[in-house]
Amino acid sequence: MLICMNLAVAIPRNRIRISTIKSVQSQDSQPMDHPKRVVVCGGGVIGVCTAYFLTKKGASVTLIEKSTIACAASGKAGGFLALDWCDGGPVEHLARASFNLHRSLSQELNGTEAYGYRSLTALSLTVAEESKTTVSSSSSATLPSWIDGPTHGPKTIGTHETTAQVHPQLFTRTLIENAVEKYGVKVVIGKLERLVVEGGKVESVILESGGVVDADAVVLALGPWSNKLELLSSRFRVSGLKAHSIVLEPKEANAITQHALFLSYRASNRRTPLDPEVYPRPTGEVYVCGMSKEEEVPDDPEEIRGNEESIAMLKRVAKTVSSHLGEEGVKVEQACFLPCTDDGVPIIGEVPGVKGCYVATGHSCWGILNGPATGAAVAELVLDGHSTIVDLKRFSPARFVGRTKA
Ligand SMILES: Cc1cc2nc3c(=O)[nH]c(=O)nc-3n(C[C@H](O)[C@H](O)[C@H](O)COP(=O)(O)OP(=O)(O)OC[C@H]3O[C@@H](n4cnc5c(N)ncnc54)[C@H](O)[C@@H]3O)c2cc1C
Repeated sequence: MLICMNLAVAIPRNRIRISTIKSVQSQDSQPMDHPKRVVVCGGGVIGVCTAYFLTKKGASVTLIEKSTIACAASGKAGGFLALDWCDGGPVEHLARASFNLHRSLSQELNGTEAYGYRSLTALSLTVAEESKTTVSSSSSATLPSWIDGPTHGPKTIGTHETTAQVHPQLFTRTLIENAVEKYGVKVVIGKLERLVVEGGKVESVILESGGVVDADAVVLALGPWSNKLELLSSRFRVSGLKAHSIVLEPKEANAITQHALFLSYRASNRRTPLDPEVYPRPTGEVYVCGMSKEEEVPDDPEEIRGNEESIAMLKRVAKTVSSHLGEEGVKVEQACFLPCTDDGVPIIGEVPGVKGCYVATGHSCWGILNGPATGAAVAELVLDGHSTIVDLKRFSPARFVGRTKA
Protein backbone atom coordinates (compact mmCIF):
# COMPACT_ATOMS: atom_id res chain seq x y z
CA MET A 1 0.00 0.00 0.00
CA LEU A 2 2.85 2.39 0.79
CA ILE A 3 4.14 1.73 -2.66
CA CYS A 4 0.85 2.70 -4.27
CA MET A 5 0.88 5.96 -2.34
CA ASN A 6 4.46 6.76 -3.40
CA LEU A 7 3.47 6.02 -6.93
CA ALA A 8 0.64 8.52 -6.93
CA VAL A 9 3.26 11.12 -6.07
CA ALA A 10 5.75 9.84 -8.65
CA ILE A 11 3.19 10.18 -11.45
CA PRO A 12 1.05 13.22 -10.68
CA ARG A 13 -2.39 12.40 -12.00
CA ASN A 14 -2.86 15.90 -13.36
CA ARG A 15 0.12 15.44 -15.65
CA ILE A 16 -1.46 12.53 -17.44
CA ARG A 17 -5.08 13.45 -16.98
CA ILE A 18 -7.19 15.27 -19.58
CA SER A 19 -10.55 15.22 -17.87
CA THR A 20 -12.34 17.91 -19.87
CA ILE A 21 -11.74 16.36 -23.24
CA LYS A 22 -14.31 17.34 -25.88
CA SER A 23 -12.39 16.13 -28.88
CA VAL A 24 -8.93 15.24 -30.12
CA GLN A 25 -9.70 15.78 -33.78
CA SER A 26 -7.56 16.17 -36.82
CA GLN A 27 -7.53 19.21 -39.08
CA ASP A 28 -9.62 18.65 -42.19
CA SER A 29 -6.55 18.72 -44.40
CA GLN A 30 -4.57 16.02 -42.56
CA PRO A 31 -1.51 15.24 -44.71
CA MET A 32 -1.35 11.65 -45.93
CA ASP A 33 2.01 11.02 -44.28
CA HIS A 34 1.07 12.13 -40.76
CA PRO A 35 2.10 9.69 -38.02
CA LYS A 36 -0.62 7.10 -37.64
CA ARG A 37 -3.03 8.22 -34.92
CA VAL A 38 -3.70 5.21 -32.72
CA VAL A 39 -6.12 5.19 -29.81
CA VAL A 40 -5.45 2.47 -27.23
CA CYS A 41 -8.38 1.78 -24.89
CA GLY A 42 -7.56 0.27 -21.49
CA GLY A 43 -4.72 1.25 -19.14
CA GLY A 44 -3.81 -2.23 -17.89
CA VAL A 45 -0.50 -3.92 -18.71
CA ILE A 46 -1.68 -4.95 -22.19
CA GLY A 47 -2.88 -1.48 -23.22
CA VAL A 48 0.15 0.25 -21.70
CA CYS A 49 2.69 -2.12 -23.34
CA THR A 50 0.89 -1.63 -26.67
CA ALA A 51 0.95 2.16 -26.29
CA TYR A 52 4.65 2.04 -25.35
CA PHE A 53 5.75 0.03 -28.39
CA LEU A 54 3.43 1.93 -30.76
CA THR A 55 4.86 5.28 -29.73
CA LYS A 56 8.44 3.97 -29.95
CA LYS A 57 7.69 2.97 -33.54
CA GLY A 58 6.54 6.51 -34.32
CA ALA A 59 2.76 6.40 -33.92
CA SER A 60 0.86 9.28 -32.35
CA VAL A 61 -0.82 7.53 -29.42
CA THR A 62 -3.72 8.43 -27.14
CA LEU A 63 -4.46 6.00 -24.31
CA ILE A 64 -7.93 6.02 -22.78
CA GLU A 65 -8.43 4.59 -19.28
CA LYS A 66 -11.67 4.87 -17.37
CA SER A 67 -10.19 4.77 -13.87
CA THR A 68 -6.43 4.90 -13.21
CA ILE A 69 -3.46 3.20 -14.86
CA ALA A 70 -3.07 -0.39 -13.57
CA CYS A 71 -6.12 -0.07 -11.31
CA ALA A 72 -7.25 -3.67 -11.94
CA ALA A 73 -5.47 -7.04 -12.39
CA SER A 74 -2.39 -5.32 -13.80
CA GLY A 75 -1.86 -3.55 -10.49
CA LYS A 76 -2.89 -6.41 -8.22
CA ALA A 77 -1.21 -9.41 -9.84
CA GLY A 78 1.77 -11.36 -8.56
CA GLY A 79 4.17 -10.28 -11.30
CA PHE A 80 5.78 -13.70 -11.66
CA LEU A 81 7.56 -14.35 -15.00
CA ALA A 82 8.63 -17.70 -16.45
CA LEU A 83 10.60 -18.46 -19.61
CA ASP A 84 9.38 -21.98 -20.32
CA TRP A 85 6.27 -22.72 -18.27
CA CYS A 86 4.02 -22.23 -21.30
CA ASP A 87 6.14 -24.53 -23.52
CA GLY A 88 4.16 -27.04 -25.54
CA GLY A 89 1.06 -24.82 -25.56
CA PRO A 90 -0.27 -22.11 -27.89
CA VAL A 91 1.39 -19.34 -25.88
CA GLU A 92 4.93 -20.83 -25.93
CA HIS A 93 6.49 -18.42 -28.44
CA LEU A 94 4.69 -15.38 -27.03
CA ALA A 95 5.84 -16.23 -23.50
CA ARG A 96 9.47 -16.90 -24.46
CA ALA A 97 9.66 -13.67 -26.48
CA SER A 98 8.04 -11.75 -23.65
CA PHE A 99 10.30 -13.15 -20.92
CA ASN A 100 13.31 -11.94 -22.93
CA LEU A 101 11.65 -8.58 -23.65
CA HIS A 102 11.11 -8.09 -19.91
CA ARG A 103 14.84 -8.53 -19.43
CA SER A 104 15.74 -5.95 -22.10
CA LEU A 105 13.04 -3.53 -20.92
CA SER A 106 14.48 -3.75 -17.43
CA GLN A 107 17.90 -2.75 -18.79
CA GLU A 108 16.34 0.11 -20.76
CA LEU A 109 14.17 1.44 -17.91
CA ASN A 110 16.34 0.60 -14.89
CA GLY A 111 13.73 -1.99 -13.95
CA THR A 112 15.48 -3.30 -10.85
CA GLU A 113 15.14 0.07 -9.13
CA ALA A 114 12.01 1.31 -10.87
CA TYR A 115 9.77 -1.74 -10.57
CA GLY A 116 11.60 -4.49 -8.71
CA TYR A 117 12.62 -6.63 -11.69
CA ARG A 118 14.78 -9.53 -10.47
CA SER A 119 15.39 -13.20 -11.15
CA LEU A 120 14.44 -15.74 -8.47
CA THR A 121 14.11 -19.39 -7.55
CA ALA A 122 10.65 -21.00 -7.74
CA LEU A 123 9.75 -23.88 -5.45
CA SER A 124 6.73 -26.16 -5.38
CA LEU A 125 5.80 -27.70 -2.02
CA THR A 126 2.97 -29.23 -0.09
CA VAL A 127 1.72 -27.61 3.11
CA ALA A 128 -0.60 -29.63 5.33
CA GLU A 129 -2.12 -27.85 8.32
CA GLU A 130 -2.55 -31.05 10.25
CA SER A 131 1.02 -32.27 10.09
CA LYS A 132 3.21 -30.74 12.76
CA THR A 133 6.73 -30.72 11.36
CA THR A 134 8.69 -29.77 8.29
CA VAL A 135 9.68 -32.88 6.34
CA SER A 136 12.48 -32.49 3.80
CA SER A 137 13.72 -36.09 3.57
CA SER A 138 13.50 -37.30 -0.06
CA SER A 139 12.86 -33.95 -1.65
CA SER A 140 15.02 -32.22 -4.24
CA ALA A 141 15.29 -28.73 -2.69
CA THR A 142 16.46 -27.27 0.60
CA LEU A 143 14.02 -24.83 2.13
CA PRO A 144 15.13 -21.38 3.26
CA SER A 145 14.73 -20.99 7.03
CA TRP A 146 11.78 -18.52 6.89
CA ILE A 147 9.59 -21.33 5.49
CA ASP A 148 9.17 -22.96 8.89
CA GLY A 149 5.61 -24.36 8.66
CA PRO A 150 4.46 -27.98 8.10
CA THR A 151 5.80 -28.49 4.57
CA HIS A 152 6.59 -31.56 2.48
CA GLY A 153 8.46 -32.38 -0.71
CA PRO A 154 9.87 -29.04 -1.88
CA LYS A 155 11.06 -29.12 -5.49
CA THR A 156 12.90 -26.51 -7.50
CA ILE A 157 10.69 -25.68 -10.49
CA GLY A 158 12.34 -22.44 -11.64
CA THR A 159 15.89 -21.07 -11.48
CA HIS A 160 17.47 -17.62 -11.81
CA GLU A 161 17.83 -18.35 -15.54
CA THR A 162 14.18 -19.29 -16.11
CA THR A 163 12.08 -17.37 -13.56
CA ALA A 164 11.86 -13.71 -12.55
CA GLN A 165 9.42 -11.15 -11.17
CA VAL A 166 8.31 -7.53 -11.44
CA HIS A 167 6.07 -5.44 -9.24
CA PRO A 168 3.23 -5.32 -11.78
CA GLN A 169 1.74 -1.97 -10.81
CA LEU A 170 5.15 -0.27 -10.76
CA PHE A 171 6.06 -1.94 -14.06
CA THR A 172 2.89 -0.75 -15.82
CA ARG A 173 3.14 2.76 -14.40
CA THR A 174 6.86 3.06 -15.21
CA LEU A 175 6.12 2.15 -18.81
CA ILE A 176 3.35 4.71 -19.22
CA GLU A 177 5.39 7.37 -17.46
CA ASN A 178 8.21 6.81 -19.97
CA ALA A 179 5.75 6.76 -22.88
CA VAL A 180 4.30 10.10 -21.74
CA GLU A 181 7.57 11.82 -20.88
CA LYS A 182 9.87 10.56 -23.63
CA TYR A 183 7.48 9.99 -26.52
CA GLY A 184 4.48 12.24 -25.87
CA VAL A 185 1.73 9.65 -25.42
CA LYS A 186 -1.50 11.35 -24.28
CA VAL A 187 -3.41 9.71 -21.45
CA VAL A 188 -7.10 10.49 -21.23
CA ILE A 189 -9.10 9.48 -18.18
CA GLY A 190 -12.52 8.66 -19.58
CA LYS A 191 -14.71 5.73 -20.43
CA LEU A 192 -14.83 4.37 -23.96
CA GLU A 193 -18.53 4.27 -24.88
CA ARG A 194 -18.40 3.10 -28.51
CA LEU A 195 -16.49 3.24 -31.77
CA VAL A 196 -17.61 5.06 -34.91
CA VAL A 197 -17.19 2.73 -37.88
CA GLU A 198 -17.81 4.00 -41.40
CA GLY A 199 -17.57 1.92 -44.57
CA GLY A 200 -16.26 -1.00 -42.50
CA LYS A 201 -13.37 1.10 -41.13
CA VAL A 202 -12.91 2.60 -37.67
CA GLU A 203 -13.04 6.42 -37.69
CA SER A 204 -13.12 7.55 -34.07
CA VAL A 205 -13.75 6.71 -30.45
CA ILE A 206 -16.66 8.19 -28.48
CA LEU A 207 -16.27 8.65 -24.73
CA GLU A 208 -19.06 8.49 -22.15
CA SER A 209 -18.49 12.23 -21.57
CA GLY A 210 -19.35 12.86 -25.22
CA GLY A 211 -15.70 13.51 -26.17
CA VAL A 212 -14.57 12.30 -29.59
CA VAL A 213 -11.06 11.08 -30.43
CA ASP A 214 -10.29 10.62 -34.14
CA ALA A 215 -8.25 7.56 -35.01
CA ASP A 216 -6.57 5.81 -37.92
CA ALA A 217 -6.54 2.70 -35.74
CA VAL A 218 -7.95 1.64 -32.36
CA VAL A 219 -6.62 -1.08 -30.04
CA LEU A 220 -9.10 -2.47 -27.51
CA ALA A 221 -7.28 -3.78 -24.42
CA LEU A 222 -10.18 -3.82 -21.97
CA GLY A 223 -9.27 -6.99 -20.05
CA PRO A 224 -12.34 -8.58 -18.40
CA TRP A 225 -14.42 -5.56 -19.45
CA SER A 226 -14.13 -6.57 -23.13
CA ASN A 227 -17.52 -8.22 -22.88
CA LYS A 228 -19.19 -4.93 -22.02
CA LEU A 229 -18.47 -3.56 -25.52
CA GLU A 230 -21.03 -4.86 -28.00
CA LEU A 231 -18.56 -4.74 -30.87
CA LEU A 232 -16.53 -7.45 -29.08
CA SER A 233 -19.21 -9.38 -27.17
CA SER A 234 -21.09 -9.98 -30.43
CA ARG A 235 -18.01 -11.81 -31.74
CA PHE A 236 -16.58 -13.74 -28.76
CA ARG A 237 -16.80 -14.02 -24.98
CA VAL A 238 -14.26 -12.80 -22.42
CA SER A 239 -15.20 -13.79 -18.88
CA GLY A 240 -13.79 -12.62 -15.55
CA LEU A 241 -12.33 -15.01 -12.99
CA LYS A 242 -12.13 -13.29 -9.63
CA ALA A 243 -8.92 -13.94 -7.65
CA HIS A 244 -7.81 -12.68 -4.24
CA SER A 245 -4.54 -11.48 -2.79
CA ILE A 246 -3.00 -10.01 0.34
CA VAL A 247 0.23 -8.08 0.78
CA LEU A 248 2.20 -8.40 4.01
CA GLU A 249 5.03 -6.34 5.43
CA PRO A 250 6.88 -8.75 7.71
CA LYS A 251 8.89 -7.15 10.53
CA GLU A 252 12.04 -9.11 9.74
CA ALA A 253 12.00 -8.55 6.00
CA ASN A 254 15.70 -9.44 5.76
CA ALA A 255 14.90 -13.03 6.71
CA ILE A 256 12.78 -13.49 3.57
CA THR A 257 14.76 -14.82 0.59
CA GLN A 258 14.23 -14.57 -3.18
CA HIS A 259 11.97 -17.66 -3.48
CA ALA A 260 8.54 -17.80 -5.13
CA LEU A 261 6.38 -20.58 -3.67
CA PHE A 262 3.75 -22.61 -5.51
CA LEU A 263 1.79 -24.51 -2.88
CA SER A 264 -0.46 -27.49 -2.71
CA TYR A 265 -2.20 -26.45 0.52
CA ARG A 266 -4.24 -28.89 2.60
CA ALA A 267 -6.50 -27.00 4.99
CA SER A 268 -8.01 -29.00 7.85
CA ASN A 269 -11.52 -27.68 7.01
CA ARG A 270 -11.47 -28.42 3.24
CA ARG A 271 -11.59 -31.62 1.23
CA THR A 272 -9.67 -30.50 -1.83
CA PRO A 273 -6.23 -28.89 -1.69
CA LEU A 274 -5.84 -25.22 -2.60
CA ASP A 275 -3.07 -23.86 -4.82
CA PRO A 276 -2.03 -20.46 -3.43
CA GLU A 277 1.19 -18.72 -4.45
CA VAL A 278 3.62 -16.70 -2.31
CA TYR A 279 5.92 -14.04 -3.81
CA PRO A 280 8.41 -12.13 -1.66
CA ARG A 281 9.21 -8.78 -3.30
CA PRO A 282 12.41 -6.72 -3.25
CA THR A 283 10.46 -4.01 -1.42
CA GLY A 284 10.42 -6.28 1.64
CA GLU A 285 6.73 -7.07 1.09
CA VAL A 286 5.34 -10.56 0.62
CA TYR A 287 2.40 -11.08 -1.77
CA VAL A 288 0.08 -14.10 -1.39
CA CYS A 289 -2.67 -14.92 -3.94
CA GLY A 290 -5.23 -17.58 -4.79
CA MET A 291 -8.91 -18.36 -4.12
CA SER A 292 -10.49 -17.79 -7.53
CA LYS A 293 -14.05 -18.16 -8.83
CA GLU A 294 -16.11 -16.92 -11.77
CA GLU A 295 -18.18 -13.85 -10.87
CA GLU A 296 -19.88 -10.93 -12.62
CA VAL A 297 -17.36 -8.13 -13.29
CA PRO A 298 -18.59 -4.83 -11.76
CA ASP A 299 -18.58 -1.86 -14.14
CA ASP A 300 -16.26 0.20 -11.92
CA PRO A 301 -12.85 -1.40 -11.18
CA GLU A 302 -12.65 0.60 -7.94
CA GLU A 303 -15.71 -1.30 -6.66
CA ILE A 304 -14.01 -4.71 -6.69
CA ARG A 305 -13.73 -6.06 -3.15
CA GLY A 306 -12.37 -9.36 -1.88
CA ASN A 307 -14.70 -11.91 -0.30
CA GLU A 308 -14.08 -12.14 3.44
CA GLU A 309 -13.77 -15.91 3.50
CA SER A 310 -11.19 -15.96 0.69
CA ILE A 311 -9.08 -13.24 2.30
CA ALA A 312 -9.22 -15.08 5.66
CA MET A 313 -8.02 -18.25 3.93
CA LEU A 314 -5.02 -16.44 2.40
CA LYS A 315 -4.08 -15.05 5.83
CA ARG A 316 -4.26 -18.57 7.21
CA VAL A 317 -2.03 -19.87 4.39
CA ALA A 318 0.54 -17.12 5.05
CA LYS A 319 0.87 -17.74 8.77
CA THR A 320 0.94 -21.53 8.33
CA VAL A 321 3.76 -21.34 5.78
CA SER A 322 5.91 -19.00 7.84
CA SER A 323 5.98 -17.62 11.37
CA HIS A 324 7.17 -14.34 9.74
CA LEU A 325 3.86 -13.94 7.91
CA GLY A 326 1.40 -13.40 10.76
CA GLU A 327 -1.85 -11.42 10.38
CA GLU A 328 -0.39 -8.32 12.04
CA GLY A 329 1.77 -7.83 8.93
CA VAL A 330 -1.16 -7.74 6.47
CA LYS A 331 -1.25 -4.30 4.78
CA VAL A 332 -3.46 -4.89 1.75
CA GLU A 333 -6.48 -7.14 1.10
CA GLN A 334 -7.71 -7.06 -2.49
CA ALA A 335 -9.28 -8.87 -5.44
CA CYS A 336 -9.29 -8.52 -9.21
CA PHE A 337 -10.41 -10.34 -12.37
CA LEU A 338 -8.39 -12.48 -14.78
CA PRO A 339 -9.57 -11.98 -18.39
CA CYS A 340 -10.40 -15.47 -19.74
CA THR A 341 -11.45 -16.66 -23.21
CA ASP A 342 -13.60 -19.69 -24.03
CA ASP A 343 -10.66 -21.61 -25.53
CA GLY A 344 -8.09 -20.42 -22.99
CA VAL A 345 -6.00 -18.66 -25.66
CA PRO A 346 -5.51 -14.85 -25.75
CA ILE A 347 -7.29 -12.91 -28.49
CA ILE A 348 -4.86 -10.67 -30.39
CA GLY A 349 -5.48 -9.27 -33.85
CA GLU A 350 -7.72 -7.23 -36.13
CA VAL A 351 -11.43 -7.52 -35.41
CA PRO A 352 -13.08 -9.25 -38.38
CA GLY A 353 -15.21 -6.83 -40.40
CA VAL A 354 -13.83 -3.65 -38.77
CA LYS A 355 -10.72 -2.42 -40.54
CA GLY A 356 -8.29 -0.61 -38.25
CA CYS A 357 -9.83 -2.01 -35.05
CA TYR A 358 -7.60 -4.39 -33.09
CA VAL A 359 -8.14 -6.35 -29.89
CA ALA A 360 -5.63 -7.66 -27.33
CA THR A 361 -7.09 -9.48 -24.34
CA GLY A 362 -7.72 -12.83 -22.65
CA HIS A 363 -4.24 -13.32 -21.17
CA SER A 364 -5.67 -15.07 -18.10
CA CYS A 365 -2.96 -15.74 -15.47
CA TRP A 366 -0.03 -14.72 -17.72
CA GLY A 367 -0.81 -11.13 -18.70
CA ILE A 368 2.12 -9.57 -16.84
CA LEU A 369 4.53 -12.05 -18.44
CA ASN A 370 3.01 -11.70 -21.92
CA GLY A 371 2.32 -7.94 -21.89
CA PRO A 372 5.58 -6.80 -23.56
CA ALA A 373 5.53 -9.27 -26.48
CA THR A 374 1.80 -8.67 -26.98
CA GLY A 375 2.36 -4.91 -27.05
CA ALA A 376 5.35 -5.15 -29.39
CA ALA A 377 3.54 -7.57 -31.73
CA VAL A 378 0.37 -5.44 -31.86
CA ALA A 379 2.46 -2.33 -32.57
CA GLU A 380 3.98 -4.11 -35.58
CA LEU A 381 0.60 -5.40 -36.73
CA VAL A 382 -0.98 -1.94 -36.58
CA LEU A 383 1.92 -0.07 -38.19
CA ASP A 384 3.47 -2.65 -40.54
CA GLY A 385 0.53 -4.98 -41.23
CA HIS A 386 2.21 -8.05 -39.69
CA SER A 387 4.21 -9.07 -36.63
CA THR A 388 7.76 -10.42 -36.82
CA ILE A 389 8.16 -10.86 -33.05
CA VAL A 390 5.49 -13.54 -32.70
CA ASP A 391 3.26 -15.22 -35.26
CA LEU A 392 -0.16 -13.91 -34.23
CA LYS A 393 -2.20 -16.31 -36.42
CA ARG A 394 -3.04 -18.60 -33.48
CA PHE A 395 -4.45 -15.64 -31.52
CA SER A 396 -6.60 -14.12 -34.28
CA PRO A 397 -10.17 -13.17 -33.29
CA ALA A 398 -11.17 -14.56 -36.71
CA ARG A 399 -11.08 -18.03 -35.11
CA PHE A 400 -14.46 -17.32 -33.51
CA VAL A 401 -16.23 -16.45 -36.78
CA GLY A 402 -19.02 -18.96 -37.33
CA ARG A 403 -18.56 -20.56 -33.88
CA THR A 404 -21.43 -20.62 -31.41
CA LYS A 405 -20.49 -18.91 -28.14
CA ALA A 406 -20.36 -21.16 -25.04
C1 LIG B 1 -4.44 -12.60 -8.32
C2 LIG B 1 -3.77 -12.51 -9.67
C3 LIG B 1 -2.41 -12.82 -9.78
C4 LIG B 1 -1.79 -12.76 -11.03
N1 LIG B 1 -0.47 -13.05 -11.13
C5 LIG B 1 0.16 -12.98 -12.32
C6 LIG B 1 1.54 -13.26 -12.42
O1 LIG B 1 2.21 -13.56 -11.42
N2 LIG B 1 2.13 -13.24 -13.66
C7 LIG B 1 1.43 -12.93 -14.79
O2 LIG B 1 1.99 -12.94 -15.88
N3 LIG B 1 0.10 -12.62 -14.72
C8 LIG B 1 -0.54 -12.65 -13.52
N4 LIG B 1 -1.88 -12.38 -13.43
C9 LIG B 1 -2.63 -12.08 -14.67
C10 LIG B 1 -2.53 -10.62 -15.09
O3 LIG B 1 -2.73 -9.80 -13.97
C11 LIG B 1 -3.59 -10.30 -16.16
O4 LIG B 1 -3.52 -11.24 -17.21
C12 LIG B 1 -3.33 -8.92 -16.74
O5 LIG B 1 -3.19 -7.96 -15.73
C13 LIG B 1 -4.47 -8.50 -17.68
O6 LIG B 1 -4.15 -7.23 -18.16
P1 LIG B 1 -5.18 -6.39 -19.05
O7 LIG B 1 -4.49 -5.15 -19.43
O8 LIG B 1 -5.69 -7.29 -20.13
O9 LIG B 1 -6.44 -6.16 -18.12
P2 LIG B 1 -6.67 -5.19 -16.83
O10 LIG B 1 -5.47 -5.12 -15.97
O11 LIG B 1 -7.95 -5.65 -16.23
O12 LIG B 1 -6.86 -3.76 -17.50
C14 LIG B 1 -7.99 -3.43 -18.26
C15 LIG B 1 -8.13 -1.93 -18.12
O13 LIG B 1 -9.15 -1.47 -19.02
C16 LIG B 1 -9.86 -0.44 -18.38
N5 LIG B 1 -11.18 -0.33 -19.02
C17 LIG B 1 -12.15 -1.27 -19.06
N6 LIG B 1 -13.21 -0.81 -19.74
C18 LIG B 1 -12.90 0.43 -20.17
C19 LIG B 1 -13.58 1.41 -20.95
N7 LIG B 1 -14.83 1.20 -21.42
N8 LIG B 1 -12.97 2.59 -21.19
C20 LIG B 1 -11.71 2.83 -20.74
N9 LIG B 1 -11.02 1.94 -19.99
C21 LIG B 1 -11.60 0.75 -19.72
C22 LIG B 1 -9.95 -0.90 -16.92
O14 LIG B 1 -10.25 0.16 -16.05
C23 LIG B 1 -8.57 -1.50 -16.73
O15 LIG B 1 -7.64 -0.55 -16.24
C24 LIG B 1 -2.52 -12.40 -12.20
C25 LIG B 1 -3.87 -12.06 -12.07
C26 LIG B 1 -4.49 -12.13 -10.82
C27 LIG B 1 -5.94 -11.77 -10.74
